[in-house]
Amino acid sequence: RGISRFSTATVFEEPIIPPVQVTYTQNLINGHFVDAASGKTFPTYDPRTGEVIAHVAEGDAEDINRAVAAARKAFDEGPWPKMTPYERSRILLRFADLVEKHSEELAALETWDNGKPHEQAAKAELPMLVRLFHYYAGWADKIHGLTMPADGNYHVQTLHEPIGVAGQIIPWNFPLLMFAWKVGPALACGNTIVLKTAEQTPLTALYVAKLFLEAGLPPGVLNIISGFGPTAGAALASHMDVDKIAFTGSTETGKIVQGLAARSNLKSVTLELGGKSPFIIFDDADIDEAVELAHFALFFNQGQCCCAGSRTYVHERIYDEFVEKAKARAVRRAVGDPFKKGIEQGPQIDSEQFQKVLRYIKSGIESNATLECGGDRIGDRGYFVQPTVFSNVQDDMLIAQDEIFGPVQSILKFNDIKDVIRRANATRYGLAAGVFTGSLETANTMMRALRAGTVWINCFDVFDAAIPFGGYKMSGIGREKGIYSLNNYLQVKAVVSPLKNPAWL
Ligand code: NAD
Repeated sequence: RGISRFSTATVFEEPIIPPVQVTYTQNLINGHFVDAASGKTFPTYDPRTGEVIAHVAEGDAEDINRAVAAARKAFDEGPWPKMTPYERSRILLRFADLVEKHSEELAALETWDNGKPHEQAAKAELPMLVRLFHYYAGWADKIHGLTMPADGNYHVQTLHEPIGVAGQIIPWNFPLLMFAWKVGPALACGNTIVLKTAEQTPLTALYVAKLFLEAGLPPGVLNIISGFGPTAGAALASHMDVDKIAFTGSTETGKIVQGLAARSNLKSVTLELGGKSPFIIFDDADIDEAVELAHFALFFNQGQCCCAGSRTYVHERIYDEFVEKAKARAVRRAVGDPFKKGIEQGPQIDSEQFQKVLRYIKSGIESNATLECGGDRIGDRGYFVQPTVFSNVQDDMLIAQDEIFGPVQSILKFNDIKDVIRRANATRYGLAAGVFTGSLETANTMMRALRAGTVWINCFDVFDAAIPFGGYKMSGIGREKGIYSLNNYLQVKAVVSPLKNPAWL
């Protein structure tokens, strides 16, 4: 059933043995790998098969307490915030070089724990990880305040100081890159960290934490806790000794995290949340290019991207041709063991997400969207989902409103620029948007009209360490990456002193 529609999607073979071993499974606290205080562990699974890869320490409130105490001491007593910025920069550079040296093991571990294509991890994500830490190493010694004239009788300066202990909670879709987006700016600015990884993907953060120790990061500066959201995550967000919390994940959990921060010590909050990003294709676009880009915008990383182009709006004049070609492209998508060369799509992260995606597909069918292809699981083990395309999708259908986080493309029709702007913006989210057009005028209008933190014109998912990323509306608070990310981890102190002599003698 279902699979007959696919020529490339065969995942019935024995899974390829990952070319890496699991070495680190304990929490990192104060420079040491330690068991959970409770002694408990939890399994992390191979999404290709649902089999256990390893058991890792299950951190909860007590482990968070210990990690926060270590981070507090490392911040209050140093040496990290007191080191010269240049020394901090050197440690970040050494770390980046070690990541580069261990890229092969890291890419393999990332694929094993997450299910993403190994080529994607090795060729795109690991080089980006290195790039991010080089970038933040560059910032460490370029952070400084201002002087201002005030009323002429005072010398006024601002000091840009680290906030203190940063709590960071990351998701499972890009475990290493989310680690870098959070840890890079926090360390460059001189903060210390307690980071909680996602329970689905604890392995690679522990591996790179070891590399940080090798690079000379002092004990307690970076502490890593594996564990679950309602226990370890909530303890971190509500901890009275944590000065800042940064979170990436679902909008629902983001609200919880913000509430915990508010009800404890009103720690400052950065949130990078969900999205339902429109990708809008005008009738002056090259259709083949648009099909390929829209396919990539949605299906990249098994559809598990917060900024996925999950509402494909296509002008009515090219709609039918576009749908035919989008379907043909999805049918050609190479799904299978992510360790196999040439594979474009691996399994979804876990059983919960897999079931959720299948439920949304069912909802699309029930709401009378046209199922062009896909619609089912592949094989009978692991969490593989057929690349699925719906046409004739209406704005009020659930599949056009909710974040599906899976390989399900929804194609909607439009005929007028004003109308498509209104519809594209009619969402609680505002993370990203894409526009495909041959007209400079259309692009200029769209880039201003779309209410989203990123607008990609004639491209999609272009990321760089220097490009800020974050959401409008319920997609988040604050910006990560680029110069803007430093604001999340700095506070400004105004220092005022009188000028005893007149300014001009
Ligand atoms: P989630 O938001 O619940 O989990 C993200 C992180 O938050 C994990 O580390 C988790 O342990 C932690 N967490 C969960 N509950 C918490 C709590 N009460 N207090 C503190 N931390 C908590 O996401 P999920 O359940 O893994 O996935 C659900 C949906 O979220 C997905 O289907 C997708 O729509 C969305 N999602 C978005 C992103 C993104 O990058 N924006 C990433 C992952 C998932």
